[in-house]
Order: sequence, then C-alpha cells, then structure tokens
Amino acid sequence: MHDTQIAIVGAGAAGLSLAYHLTLGAPGRRPPSVVLVDAPEGPLRPAERTWCFWEKPDGEFDEAVSAVWDTLRVQGPRGFGVAAPVAPLRYKMLRSGDFESFVGHRLAAEPKVTRLEAVVHDVRELGRGAEIRALAPDGRPRTLRARWVFDSRPPRVLPPSRTTLLQHFRGWFVTTERPAFDPRVADLMDFRTPQPAQGLSFAYVLPSSAHQALVEYTEFSPRTLDDAGYSDALRRYLTHELALEHFKVNRVENGVIPMTDARFPRRVSPSVFRIGTAGGATRPSTGYTFAAVQRQARAIATAVHQGRTPEPPPVHSARSLAMDAVLLRALHTGRVSGSDFFTGLFRQVPMERLLRFLDGRTSRREDLLIGLRTPVGPMLRTAAELPWLPRRRVNLKEMR
Ligand SMILES: Cc1cc2nc3c(=O)[nH]c(=O)nc-3n(C[C@H](O)[C@H](O)[C@H](O)COP(=O)(O)OP(=O)(O)OC[C@H]3O[C@@H](n4cnc5c(N)ncnc54)[C@H](O)[C@@H]3O)c2cc1C
Repeated sequence: MHDTQIAIVGAGAAGLSLAYHLTLGAPGRRPPSVVLVDAPEGPLRPAERTWCFWEKPDGEFDEAVSAVWDTLRVQGPRGFGVAAPVAPLRYKMLRSGDFESFVGHRLAAEPKVTRLEAVVHDVRELGRGAEIRALAPDGRPRTLRARWVFDSRPPRVLPPSRTTLLQHFRGWFVTTERPAFDPRVADLMDFRTPQPAQGLSFAYVLPSSAHQALVEYTEFSPRTLDDAGYSDALRRYLTHELALEHFKVNRVENGVIPMTDARFPRRVSPSVFRIGTAGGATRPSTGYTFAAVQRQARAIATAVHQGRTPEPPPVHSARSLAMDAVLLRALHTGRVSGSDFFTGLFRQVPMERLLRFLDGRTSRREDLLIGLRTPVGPMLRTAAELPWLPRRRVNLKEMR
C-alpha cells in the first residue's frame, strides 16, 4: 500500500516545478497526492540563486520575476558589441527565494500536498511502487512509499563522458555611486576579460537600475578558481572595463554547473525517475536549465493526469546534444576560440532564431544555417573525432 501517489525528492527548481504543475490538475481529473521531501537547512540545501530564462511576455511565474530585459548584448574582446532585441520573447530573472515563496504558497493551499524535511539516503524499487528512506532533522528514520518517485538530488558522480567542462562563476550584486548601467540591456557575454589558458571567460551583467546590477565573472574551463581568482577578476572588470572606482558589494552568488556530454538516465527503475539537473535537464553548451525543467515538469504532470507512466521525456533533442558535444570538445581542445565563436554567432544569426536554437526548437535546415556561421573546419574535424573517443568517468571533486 502506498502512502502517496507521488513522492518528489528535492525542492529545488525541478522538485518545486513538478509539484506546482501536478497541482494544477487537468479538466475532469483530480490532482494526485504528492509528498515533497527536501533536506533541512544545511550543507545539502543550495544557497539562494538567480535563474534567468527567456520566454513569452506573460509567463506563469511573472508575479515572482524580479527583472525583465528586452535587449541582450554580446561584446567581443576588443569591446565591439552586438545588441539585439529579444522580441517576441523576454529575458527574465527569477530569484530562487521568490520562486520558493510563490510555489510554496500555492502548495500550502493544496490539501493533497504534504511537505517533509528529511535527508533522503535511499530510494528502493518495490515493483509497482518505491520506498524512500530518510532521516528527519531530529535523527529519527522516516520511510515513505509512493507509486512513483521523482528524484532531483544532484548526482555525486557524473555518468561517463567524452568532455566535461565546468561553468563556474561568482556574481557580485553591486551598487554604484554614479549611474553605470543601462537597465534595458542585459550583457549575456562580455569577453573583455582575460581569457584562461583552456576554455573561455566572460562577464555577465544584469542591471536592475542605473546604479544596481548583478555582475558575474564566468569561466567555461576544466577547473574552478580560488576565492582570490574570482574576486580579482570581478574587481578588474568593474574598474578597468566599466571604469567604476566606487561600488559596494551587497551580496555574492557562487555557482558551478557541469557542462558535459554525459548521458543522464531518466528512469532508474520501473517506478523511480530522475528530474532536473540529475535527469539531464541542463543544456550542456550553456548551463541553462530552468526553462527545460518547466517543459519536463509539464510533460510529467500531463502523463500523471492522463494516467500514463510518467517517464520524464528528453528535454533536449538528440541533435541538440550532438551539436553541444562537438562544441564542448572544440572548446576543450582549443580548436575554436570561445569569444570568436559566440560573438560570431550573435553577430550573424538573428537573436530570435538563436534563442529558439538554444531551446532546441529550430528545424534541421536552420541548424545547418547556424552551423555554417561557426568555424566549419575545426567543428567538422571535432565531429569526426568524437565517435572514436572513449567515455570516461570524471571526478567532479578533483575539478574543484
Ligand atoms: C548559482 C547558480 C545560478 C544558476 N543560474 C541559472 C540561470 O540563470 N538559468 C538557468 O536556466 N539555470 C541556472 N542554473 C542552473 C540550474 O537551473 C540550477 O542548478 C537549478 O537549481 C537546478 O535545479 P534542480 O532542481 O535540478 O537542482 P537544485 O535546485 O539544486 O535542487 C536540488 C534539491 O535537492 C535537495 N537535496 C539534495 N540532497 C538531498 C537529500 N539527500 N535529501 C533530500 N533533499 C536533498 C536540495 O535541498 C535541493 O532543494 C544556475 C545554477 C547555479 C548553481
């Protein structure tokens, strides 16, 4: 006998989104019973973060969105830039705390949703259901049975890959004395940062007013930096490139996202599935995950409402993943320069098409046209080499 129809492990972007979409229900169908288990405050709970994504102007989380931009810019190493409107879409910023409150209120009003704080240490298949074993904050063991389990705990070990880079960054929420930012424009990539020996680096600037912005220093490279490395890079960018002498750092955001061509299994056993980053929702070439998590959650909820097996569908097409694998390898080997690659793409491909491409919604012909805007020789050579390279397990801890 199951305690609940659905158990979700982890209340981050994926767990909360799935619980939210499940409770929306469907015409003529009652929402399922759901238990959402999350680790208590402590080392397993991720720190507050900001999620950015692009979508149509009237999105379902707009109430919780803290900033919106209509123009995105990419700047090359020598400062020449391409700024383009995002229309008909918008680039939005959602803070994880605001998302948690927004979804949390909704879930609190749902009698069939239960929330539980516990550290899950085991998920076992029972056949037509699964069992979750966890420890409550008071140290007492908890056991739950559910017909379907969706597990979003971040994987401790990545599946074998040919290429794994890290997208690692530090962001400062700064306030400046003089007006320094254009709040209508978000800088997706500003390559006026010193480039690392392997991979690439750029600044990412999200202004919320003329005096306030989140300024991030990001690398796609094989290893993280130490504290001083990030702070020096951010200070250098703010003082040299933005010519800011006086600024105050109000808050700091750190992140490490694996960019990998590993294949993430989404079905662990007949009743247990993985979702979110753990289920391969992170786009390997960009690290963007939030919008894919929404697509995944919506599809799972529809399957549950229709009484089908709710196996999470792939959120990135095989073609997108194959192209990303080539790009990761080309960046890793240094065959293509990251700054030339991305500035070239943004200069030559219309923004709307590029964003659709990153969502995996472009046609084969459009993908080919985009491919022709990249360094064709090195990319083809890399594509030819890939099938012969072995997949290896990488130890993420050794990369940090
Ligand atoms: C700083 C940062 C900024 C990012 N910015 C963006 C962005 O702008 N746009 C974008 O698309 N993507 C972004 N990403 C990538 C991605 O969207 C996030 O990592 C996202 O949080 C992934 O969602 P998730 O649910 O898979 O994992 P998480 O949000 O990390 O959730 C995992 C959950 O599992 C819980 N948990 C862990 N272990 C246990 C356990 N043993 N028992 C119970 N619960 C457990 C944790 O408490 C947590 O709630 C960012 C990532 C980081 C780190």
